[in-house]
Amino acid sequence: MWSLFKKKLPVIVPANRHRMTRTHVDREVLDILDRLRRNGYKSYLVGGCIRDILLGKKVKDFDIVTDARPRQIKKLFKRCFLIGRRFRLAHVYVSQDRFVEVATFRALVDPEEVQGPRYAANNVFGTIEEDALRRDFTINAFYFDSADSSLIDYTGGLDDIRKKHLRCIGDPEARFSEDPVRIIRAGRFCAQLGFTLPRRELRAVSRCAHLIREANANRLLEEVYKILRSSASARTFANLSAWGLLGHWIPEIADSRHQKSLHARLAIIDKRRAQGDEISTSVLLTSMLWDLIMEAAGEQAGTMNFQDVFMVLQQKLQEFAVRLRLPRKEWDRVCNIAARQWTFMRPAAGRRAKRTENNFIRSPYFADALLFFEVLSDLSAGQGDRLAYWKGRASQIHLEPRDGGDESATVHAPHSPHPPVHAHPAPGQHGEPGAPRKKRRRRRRPPRHGKPAPAQEQS
Ligand code: ATP
Ligand code: MG
Repeated sequence: MWSLFKKKLPVIVPANRHRMTRTHVDREVLDILDRLRRNGYKSYLVGGCIRDILLGKKVKDFDIVTDARPRQIKKLFKRCFLIGRRFRLAHVYVSQDRFVEVATFRALVDPEEVQGPRYAANNVFGTIEEDALRRDFTINAFYFDSADSSLIDYTGGLDDIRKKHLRCIGDPEARFSEDPVRIIRAGRFCAQLGFTLPRRELRAVSRCAHLIREANANRLLEEVYKILRSSASARTFANLSAWGLLGHWIPEIADSRHQKSLHARLAIIDKRRAQGDEISTSVLLTSMLWDLIMEAAGEQAGTMNFQDVFMVLQQKLQEFAVRLRLPRKEWDRVCNIAARQWTFMRPAAGRRAKRTENNFIRSPYFADALLFFEVLSDLSAGQGDRLAYWKGRASQIHLEPRDGGDESATVHAPHSPHPPVHAHPAPGQHGEPGAPRKKRRRRRRPPRHGKPAPAQEQS
């Protein structure tokens, strides 16, 4: 397909003709760009950060590209780690727990797909133009030159920003079949940015949707997290469902019977996240999977104790959790939160009722479980009293507010050797890029897959 691209002159937009300036960029990021340039290399900001600034959105993280090779980058920065196997990326640390990703311009040939000595390490690097053409959508392929604040557009992305079109770079069918995860990204970008997918892209989506079945499961899980944290998860799943992709990806939640309730729950979550609420990954996942969970728990869940519901969920949905590659700890948290919902709904009975409740309130999942109960209560009349009761009980025993959840266990790219200090800050954890990481409260060790050991008290 790449031969279809003729060598193309980029559109270079001078500083006074677009809205992005150096003031949009973190000081430490500018320092990296400047140091690369002072040492004779080209350096640019690239990708999502420019798109978001042009659209007036909050920037999540800044990515840099350069013509310096990974080892040359490493020489310039004291705290720099090279990651990845064949195409090596540099992580340049700007503080204890925050890094900026610096990549060398990449060639069109994907080294993961092409074997053989011809594509030895050197051949994975390319020119800026090649680097632009291998990106997914035109709005993700801008380059910002911090030397003169000009913007470089090789693919017509500026036009698409104006039209609010999410257009593939190159032939949509070729690009989606080359990497079907791009369809999921398209669903999220359209939802997040209020863009539409042009007809050509839509046709390609319907032809390629089934290919998502072959996609790498870890990458797909990353996409689940990105969607749930996007504050546009309800609309993203609605897009993916309308495009016929969800049924190939997660058929368990694609069932038309559940679409309305899925959308309603996620809309509540999105609204809260947009207001700045921290919501743990496990609550996000529980919200996504609640219909499936209720089905697995069955009618009798209302009369079962919490441990038994937990066991049923673990057994019936184990295969599903494994297929999604949900980390065991995360899945255990989801089952704990879910199983507690029936506890909330019924009044505690018996002599030991108060103590049982207190134990529950002090359990590590209470805050998350109550938050999810609040989401459910927003959707169904009649739970208001129960919610008020549990909130009252919780404040009675002076429950300290609990931290959201340990997102660090799962967000990071599988190839990173430094998962706990990822610095493209995980979404929702920091307000601004560069903000110091919040100290997290340690959680009690959750029960293990197959060996559930939920909290001790009876309910
Ligand atoms: P967000 O961070 O909100 O997901 P983003 O555009 O920054 O948006 P990243 O996953 O951080 O997305 O990727 C950074 C850039 O890398 C993208 O802007 C795009 O240019 C390129 N990119 C990411 N994924 C792909 C892909 N699957 N195919 C081609 N290019 C990609
Ligand atoms: Mg990004």
